[in-house]
Amino acid sequence: MQEARTINYECPYCHKTFEVQLYDVVNAEDVDLKERCMSGDIFRVSCPHCKKDYLIQYPLVYIDQANRFILWLSQNEMGEALRAYTKNMKGYKFRRCESIAQFVEKIQIFEDGIDDVMVELAKYDCFIEFVDNKKGKPEDITSIEYQKADNGVIKINVRTDDQGMSFLIPVSMLEEEMAEHPDYYEVNNEEFPLINGEWIRSLFQESAGEA
Ligand SMILES: [Zn+2]
Repeated sequence: MQEARTINYECPYCHKTFEVQLYDVVNAEDVDLKERCMSGDIFRVSCPHCKKDYLIQYPLVYIDQANRFILWLSQNEMGEALRAYTKNMKGYKFRRCESIAQFVEKIQIFEDGIDDVMVELAKYDCFIEFVDNKKGKPEDITSIEYQKADNGVIKINVRTDDQGMSFLIPVSMLEEEMAEHPDYYEVNNEEFPLINGEWIRSLFQESAGEA
């Protein structure tokens, strides 16, 4: 069940309109659409007038029945329409993603069968290590990205404008870290929580504030 619709879209560059096909719901069983989500190309458009290529973000629900997760790409808080999923699809992970980059990364994390809370902790640890070891200043970092997980190690890339650095974080180390404060890392799954860098930083700021 793919729900595609066509809209008239005004190009933000030349202000002429053209037709764009949007998907409200993507089911991962459709391999072509799944691949377009994983690459982000499903959001890519090309203006036929000024020929610019760019991404447009719109609300999209992504359902993966094999890996049992549902992502909701949206900058808004959860609406009532999403309750139907949390009621009817028990045992699923529900996540909201605020950006296309987060959405693409989240699919990869769940495809790899990794806990996304653990990935955010790994990214946070890399951030601390990067800054503490004077590799660069926090404001120089343009992104911290999950790359892959294998052989019990999660690979994270920390990027700045002119360089990148890879970190390998053992899963066993992250599991120990999480076991020390299991209450920190609890998430309210049914609320389609945002599990991202901002979320993990807020955990550590709160705990520092309480100490
Ligand atoms: Zn245009």
